[in-house]
Order: sequence, then structure tokens, then C-alpha cells
Amino acid sequence: MSAVLPSYVAGRWFAPDDGVPLLDASTGEEIVRVSSSGLDFAAMVDYARQIGGPAIRALTFHERAARLKALAKALSERAVKDAFYDLSFRTGATQRDSMVDIDGGIGTLFAYASKGTRELPDGKVVLDGPVEPLGKGGSFVGQHVFVSRPGVAVQINAFNFPVWGMLEKLAPAFLAGLPSIVKPASQTAYLTEAVVRQIIDFGLLPAGSLQLVSGSAGNLLDHLGPQDSVAFTGSAHTADILRQHPSVLHGGVRLGVEADSLNCSVLGTDVSVDDPEFELFVKGVVTEMTVKAGQKCTAIRRAIVPAAIADDVVAAISDRLAKVTVGKPDADGVRMGALASLAQRDEVRKAVEALRTSADIVFGDPDRVDVVGADAESGAFISPVLLRAHEGAREVHDVEPFGPVSTVISYETLDEAIDLAARGKGSLAGSVITHDPEVARTIVLGLTPWHGRILVLDRDDAGESTGHGSPLPMLVHGGPGRAGGGEELGGIRGVLHHMQRTAIQGSPDMVTAIGGRWTTGAQRREDGIHPFRKSLAELKIGDTISSDAREVTREDIATFADFTGDTFYAHTDPEAAAANPLFGGIVAHGYLVVSLAAGLFVEPHPGPVLANFGVDNLRFLTPVKAGDSIAVTLSVKQITPRLSADYGEVRWDAVVSNADGDPVATYDVLTLVAKTWPQDA
Ligand code: NDP
Repeated sequence: MSAVLPSYVAGRWFAPDDGVPLLDASTGEEIVRVSSSGLDFAAMVDYARQIGGPAIRALTFHERAARLKALAKALSERAVKDAFYDLSFRTGATQRDSMVDIDGGIGTLFAYASKGTRELPDGKVVLDGPVEPLGKGGSFVGQHVFVSRPGVAVQINAFNFPVWGMLEKLAPAFLAGLPSIVKPASQTAYLTEAVVRQIIDFGLLPAGSLQLVSGSAGNLLDHLGPQDSVAFTGSAHTADILRQHPSVLHGGVRLGVEADSLNCSVLGTDVSVDDPEFELFVKGVVTEMTVKAGQKCTAIRRAIVPAAIADDVVAAISDRLAKVTVGKPDADGVRMGALASLAQRDEVRKAVEALRTSADIVFGDPDRVDVVGADAESGAFISPVLLRAHEGAREVHDVEPFGPVSTVISYETLDEAIDLAARGKGSLAGSVITHDPEVARTIVLGLTPWHGRILVLDRDDAGESTGHGSPLPMLVHGGPGRAGGGEELGGIRGVLHHMQRTAIQGSPDMVTAIGGRWTTGAQRREDGIHPFRKSLAELKIGDTISSDAREVTREDIATFADFTGDTFYAHTDPEAAAANPLFGGIVAHGYLVVSLAAGLFVEPHPGPVLANFGVDNLRFLTPVKAGDSIAVTLSVKQITPRLSADYGEVRWDAVVSNADGDPVATYDVLTLVAKTWPQDA
């Protein structure tokens, strides 16, 4: 008997005495056994809540991002990755399939590390949108904030992506401040276990950040409550069971679902057999059928094509499929490996049988396949199968064969194509292959209510396109209706899904203290030291410089016009400027006002301010006429140290006002400021 795959529970590895055998997908050899019998699920949840969560939330977003980056680097080490690849072959995956899973997963960690650093503050609160004024006097305002929850993120994954499936859920949850309990699908859990073991051994994540359930989920969900969430990927059937779990129905547990999806690819009416788009379409369908042997939640199940060229499409796809070598995933020349298990092959055969009531097989035989390097019957091998739908076919929009199977469906008009796509009742990913912008717009707008992501592919973006089926960390992954209604990834959106959004109402000082960003109306501090003389360590939110006033003369405006070449009539032609309904005479250039403001607030000597790297939200509110005088108030709005540099970012609130006190221009000035000054101090 082989060993039993352990789980990682409350800081230690635990394995029961026996379990269900897990077999090599291509040889049928037993690899390991799996069972979660005897696992203390209550202790896992408790450990995550009491130990993992507080330790993660003691870190700022940037510190969490740095841990993710270090982890991604460690997992990228050749020897570490090679071990994962060796195991991945046993799941039936080829080298290319494994890259999508293993490198794709590590890439997602890198992407979240980078986004966490660049797009989140170095704090623990995310501000959502601008301050909302709630009172006329400015003393009562509102601000939406996102904060971490003191809960646990449970992930229940499908068998097809044992590495990516875990890491794409772990990264956003960790950034959001949540510990994860990972429950991979049993079939391929040995690969997930190997990655979890490495992560634990690296010791880069705080204790309690990550636990593993090998085997069934047992009564894990019974222990969850209103601060916890479950992210599920798998069948619609299991999703329904989870939706009806008392913890979800009555206990306030948040459930996100990614389930079955009958994704489509639509070929535009503008495309003829000789266009590059025809080849792109055919190649896309074949790739989606054969990568991971079609066991991808985003794979193209329905190829929707103009009736006039449907025969050509079928012939071209069949030609390409005929060149696909099926076999042991690590054997030379093999393009497509095995399905994850013999049971999965039975499922696919059953699904093809169901499809045959409304479609004919035009390529492949689900019961026969030539296999290289392995025995066709002991391994879970199956031929790619292409079907062609009968007119008005229904099953092709309802039955999801989770394998290398796709159906060609023909249409006459774009409206019909959209209607056919919608019969999938909601999908994760769709694609439209066309070189005609009008066709693209019509189909895409028709498809969007039914899709989480849509690729528009043509000769112009094909070179760089990541293809129909690749979820990307910066774009949302999920879909409406049948696809489950969940949403993951999408950059920082995926982090915020794990956090609580709360509307805070209070005075500007209170909102500043809570959100960590200076708010208009909050106290400004002027202590006689110019804030440009203060290092990052010395600067405080609210530190302010109020400048002297300066007159803007007609000569200033003329000089600026001459010097820059900006001789727009409002600055140079008195008559035309007088006729302008907004100005009624010569006005200063907005950029002159901003430039003069810099001259008013700057402290010119060498000091801790190293650079100005831009302005945000610049608005010109009141025209400045010749003879008006202006002054500027500059206050520290937000301070963001950079972890790996000896400087940080300071965002300043700038308000330029005229002699009447009216705001002339408002904007944020962005600077880099040394952490200490003098720098060797
Ligand atoms: P399942 O729904 O059977 O399993 C998915 C996950 O749920 C596994 O980890 C499984 O654990 C777990 N699970 C099963 N029953 C329960 C339960 N009652 N409570 C808690 N967890 C449970 O899907 P499969 O992975 O077997 O895939 C089957 C089908 O799902 C595919 O044929 C395909 O149609 C669809 N699928 C969709 C995907 C998508 O993203 N849209 C991705 C992958 C699959 P265990 O393995 O231990 O049973």
C-alpha cells in the first residue's frame, strides 16, 4: 500500500492510516492514498482565525506584497519547479499544460505582489472613492473604506489546475489580510500538497497563513461564520450543494462560485477562408480542445461560425486535430496527454453520447485513440472529438464535455450568433474573431451580459494575444449564470472582494485619522519649518506651507506665451478673449498658474525632497486675470514609504487661491522624499 497524503493542520502535518488510492492518469499506477478522516476541522479554522489572520494583518499591504514576491521567487527556483513538473506529468498534463498550471500560478503571485505594492497604500485601509461632502459647512463628510475581515478564506478547487487554482486564490486573500485553508480536488491533490509543503518549508508566510485539507472537505463548512468566505471551483452540482449549506444559507458565509461553462468562440461574418482571422479561429479552437486535454473551465465548447463557411471550418479544424499526437505526457512528440482519471474519461464519453442526440461526430472516436508511450486502456486517454450541430440543436448549449471536445454550430445573422452564444446561459470566457470593428462591436455588446471576459482577436493583436482560454491576474475571472456568478482576480478587485466596504461618516479630522489620508477641512499644521526640509521620518500628515501672495501681471502672461509658444487667443488677443463667455478678457495660462505656484511653495536648497514625479487630479476652477494675485497652500496628504528603497512617496494637497479666497486650481503634487536627511543620518 502506498503512503497516505498528509494534510497541514494547525501547524503540523497529519495523515490518517488509510485512504482512497490516487492513480497516475496515464499508467494507472497508484501514486498515493488520500483521506481527510480524523482531521480536526474546528482546530484548523480556529488556528487560521487566532494565529494566521492576526499575523497577516499585523503586516501592511506592502509588507504582504513583499512576502508574496519572495514566495514567488522561491517557488521559481529551477530545482523546486522541476519537482512540481515531475509530479504534474502524473496528472496527465504535458510540459506545456504544466506550464499553464505551475508557471501560471507563480506568475499570478508575482502579479499580485507587484499590484499590491503599486496600487495599494502602505497601510491597512483602502480608501474607496473620494470624500463625499455631507454638510454645507464642510465639517461633516463621508468616506468609503475597505478593511480586512477577521475571518478565514476557504478555497475548494477543481482537479484541473492543482497549482494555479490554489495560488490565484491565495494571493488576493493574503493581500486582503486573510489566512487560507486550501482544499484541492482529491484526484490531483498530491501536486497541491507538494507546493504547500514547499511554501511551509520556505517559512516566508506567517504561521497560520496556509493550511491544507487532503481528501474530502468533511464538516469544514460547519465551522465557518459571517467573517469567512468560501471560493469554490468545480461542478454546478457541487456548487448547488454548497449554496444550500446552512452556513451559507443562514450563517452569513460568503460563497463565490466558478462552475461549468459552455464557452463559445464566434467567427465574424466578415471573415473568408483566405483571411488570417480564419486560421486564427481554427488554431484557437484546436488549442482550447487540446491544452490540458480540454479540461479547462475556459475551453471553447462551442465554435459558432457563419453557415457559408461552416464546412471549411470543420475541414480545417479536423486537419489540425489529425496532427495532434496523444500519449504519455512526458513522451517525445506528445501534444495531448491524458484526462485526469478513468472516471473523468467515462464522464467525457457520456457527455459526447448526450451531444450526439443533436450533433454528429465529424472528427475522432471517443472510444478509440492511438496512444504513444502508454497503454491506451490503463491510462485515461481519449481522442479529440469534433462535432457538428444539427439545426436547432439544444444539447450543445447544455452539456459540458470536460475534455477535448468541441461542437461547430452555424449561424446566418449576427443576431442569431448572439442568440446562440446566450443559450450557454452564462460563460467565463468568450472570443470573437473578426477584423471588422462594426461586427466586433455588435457581437461583443451582444455577448457581454453573458460573459466574464471576451477576447476580440484579429491579425493586429494575434501576435501578442494570450489566447481565448488564459485567465490573467489583472483581468476578472468568473462569469454570470451557469458559470456560477462569481468573480476572482481582476487585479486589486480580487483583493477587495475579500474585504469589507464600510461608509465612515465624521469630521474631516476623524476621516483623516481613520483613512490615513489628509481630507479637505482637516487640520493643517504649520510649525515654522518648511515641510520640504523634513525627511519622510519627520513628515506628518497635515504638515503645511502657506505661501505669500504673488500678482500675475499682463507681462507674465505675455512672457509665458512667447516662451512656450502657447499663444492661444485667451492669453494673447484682448478682443477675442473679451468675447469668450467664460473669460471676458485676457487670462493666465493654467500651466502658468501651476508653474507660479511651484515657485511660491518650493524650498530651493538641496534637501530630502528628491524629485517631483507628477501631479494628479489637476483642475482649473477660476480664471486668473491679469492683475489678480494668487497664493498656494500645500499640505501633506499621504505618506507611502517604499519598502525596498531609502525614499518614499509623498502626496501633497495643493490649493491655489486668488485674493478673494476662491480656489483657482487644485491638484495633488507627487514627490519622492528621502527616508532620512542628511541621507547618511
Ligand atoms: P466537483 O464539483 O466534483 O469537485 C470540485 C471540488 O469540490 C473538489 O475539491 C471536490 O473535492 C469538492 N467537493 C465535492 N463535493 C463536495 C462537497 N459536498 N462539499 C465540499 N466540497 C466538495 O468537480 P470536479 O473537480 O470533479 O469536476 C467535475 C466537473 O466540474 C467537470 O467535469 C467540469 O464540468 C466542472 N469543472 C468546472 C470548472 C470551472 O472552473 N468552471 C473547473 C473544473 C471542473 P473532492 O475532489 O475531494 O471530491
